[in-house]
Parts: sequence; structure tokens; C-alpha cells
Amino acid sequence: MKALCKRHRKPGLWLEDIPEPKIGPGDVLIRVLKTAICGTDLHIYNWDSWAQETIPVPMIIGHEFVGEIVETGEHVNDCYAGEIVSGEGHVVCGRCRNCLAGRRHLCANTEGIGVNRQGAFAEYICIPESNIWHHAPDIDLKIAALFDAFGNATHTALSFDILGEDVLITGAGPIGCMAAAICRYGGARYVVVTDTNKTRLNIAQKMGATQVIEAGKEKIAVVQKNLGMREGFDVGLEMSGSPSAFGDMLENMCHGGKIAMLGIPENIMAIDWHTVVFNMLTIKGIYGREMYETWYKMTVMLQGGLDISPVITHHLPAQDYNAGFAIVDSGDAGKVILDWTNFS
Ligand code: NAD
Ligand code: ZN
Repeated sequence: MKALCKRHRKPGLWLEDIPEPKIGPGDVLIRVLKTAICGTDLHIYNWDSWAQETIPVPMIIGHEFVGEIVETGEHVNDCYAGEIVSGEGHVVCGRCRNCLAGRRHLCANTEGIGVNRQGAFAEYICIPESNIWHHAPDIDLKIAALFDAFGNATHTALSFDILGEDVLITGAGPIGCMAAAICRYGGARYVVVTDTNKTRLNIAQKMGATQVIEAGKEKIAVVQKNLGMREGFDVGLEMSGSPSAFGDMLENMCHGGKIAMLGIPENIMAIDWHTVVFNMLTIKGIYGREMYETWYKMTVMLQGGLDISPVITHHLPAQDYNAGFAIVDSGDAGKVILDWTNFS
């Protein structure tokens, strides 16, 4: 099969012919139809210091995908050839305290697909049955391909009550843009989104942001005043990983405000604890998605009319992966989809 591999410990990825994966008794073999490029994949492509420390080579990368089941192991009970599925990107241990209690998203020993085990940027992928999400028949394949990232946005956006609340989102990357759409759908009054990149702010606007702010040029406090807000944002979703964005967020929260932190700062980050303490803020770290409550919510929100399609800006054949990664690297894009169906 064709697979996009990190073959050498240097920048780049290599499209190679390698054997199809062999399935174990509890595994499912999936023919991959579409994949989406995530920031993690770009780190691996660029071979930055995180990737150098984390990725064993060779590694098939990628974890956002949709495909069709072609084969199942002998102990698999609930998966059938022909079904359209995605895979939860975290494979959990099933044995730690959280897993045993049913809190699998809090597993102490999680492995990442396309990071610590072979990934989805290939014609076939093998994952355990417990990682399968069966798609409802009415879900568009391009949207199904990015359920993993949509799940990050959903899990973060639904961490705190948003009905009737004012929400500040720092970072209009694909995840911030999807979160903006979810917050509007979920009944937030105002959803204000900041970024330094105008292309991305335009996407956030298309996704339903009430107001977008060019970070560093406009003040969040001024926008609050213009909107008639008196006491600051009720909920903050940090989706940039930028220390200055997080600082701006802390300054603009209401007393008792709640912040969900998804963005991953590159280095250790100082924060103004006086503001956290005196304004009685709650900060919650977010990793991944809930298995499988988040997946359920994504499905039913789409069926209820949530539209996240403006986040998809490019759709290329997998052969053009170098162009796809260059588009993601430029920052002037939302989600980039690679199609894996035209090799034969
Ligand atoms: P992304 O890198 O595409 O988007 C980040 C955005 O933040 C960019 O558009 C960038 O221009 C913007 N930004 C940079 N500086 C800013 C500033 N000062 N103010 C406002 N915006 C600023 O990333 P993404 O794929 O949308 O993911 C969002 C974040 O979440 C990233 O930090 C990513 O690493 C992280 N992430 C975390 C998890 C998790 O499970 N915790 C999962 C996926 C992604
Ligand atoms: Zn576990």
C-alpha cells in the first residue's frame, strides 16, 4: 500500500510502498478514504524539537481520517465490512484507574495514532475495535475526516456552560474556528475570536463569530465596551498556545470566569497569578476528546444543523501532500483534506 512515512530523521515526509498492516484478534482494518492534516502532522513534517524527541522513525503519520472497514479480527463483535468509520486518535490502556472507571479520556498511558503507533496517512490503517467510531449515514465524508480535531473543539467548547454566556476564543486556527461555530450553536450570546492572521479571522467570521479581533492591533477591552459588555467574558477558550494571547484572555475575564486551555505553549509559560486569584478564575486543561460522549455530541450537532464546512479550505489528492503541507505551513488556510482513493 501507499503510506506517508517519516522515514528519515530530517524535515519532510516520504510517500512509500509498504506492506498492508496485519490485524490482531481485536483489530479492525480500514481502507482510508480521506484524511485531514493537523498541526501535529506539520510538527512531524518540519521535524521540530518536539518531533525529534517524540517520534520513533519510521512512522506512518496522521490521525484524522475517515474510511471503510474491510476486515475484522476474530474477537471483534460489532464492526462489519463496508461500514464508514473514523478512529479515536488516542489508544488507551484499559487498565489504569481512569480507564477502569470509564473515564478513558483521562487514561494515564495513552498512545497517539500517527505519533506513537502507525497512523492513518496510508491506504489502510489497523486500529483496535475500541477506537472505532461508526458514522451516522448522513455525515459528509470531508467532515467525517476531521472528527478528531472537531472533537478537540467540541470537548473544549462544551467544558463549561455557554448558553447565554459571552465567550472569548484566542486563536482562529481550525480548532478555534470550529469552536466559534459550536459556541454560537450552543447558545452563547457573543463569541469574540482573536488571531494575528486575517485569513483565519475571516474564516472565524464565516463560522459565526460575533466579532473578530486582530491581536496586537485592537484591544479586547475596547471591543467588549462596544458590544455593551460590562464585566468581562464568562468563558475563555485558549486555542493559540500563545503566551501573549493567554495574558490578554486573563485580563478580560469576568470575576469567576472559566478558561479551558487547549493551546499548547511551546515553552514554559509565566502567568499572572494575581489575576487568577483575585478574579477567582477557573483554568481547566483539555487534552483530546471524551470517548465517546464528544463523538456523539458532534454527530447530533451536525444533524441538528451545525455547519462547520467553511473550515475546510483545501481538498487535494494524497499524492500532492507536499503542496498540502505547504498550505498548512503558510497559515493562510483552514483545514486541508487529502484524498486517498485514487492510487490504483
Ligand atoms: P493552529 O496552530 O492552526 O492555530 C493557532 C492559531 O493561533 C493560529 O491561527 C495563530 O495565528 C494564532 N495565534 C498566534 N499568536 C496569537 C496571538 N497572540 N493571539 C491570538 N491568536 C494567535 O492550531 P489548531 O490546530 O487550531 O490548534 C489550536 C491549538 O491547540 C494549538 O496550540 C495546538 O497545538 C493545540 N492542540 C491541542 C490539542 C489538545 O488535545 N490539547 C489537540 C490539538 C491541538
Ligand atoms: Zn488507561
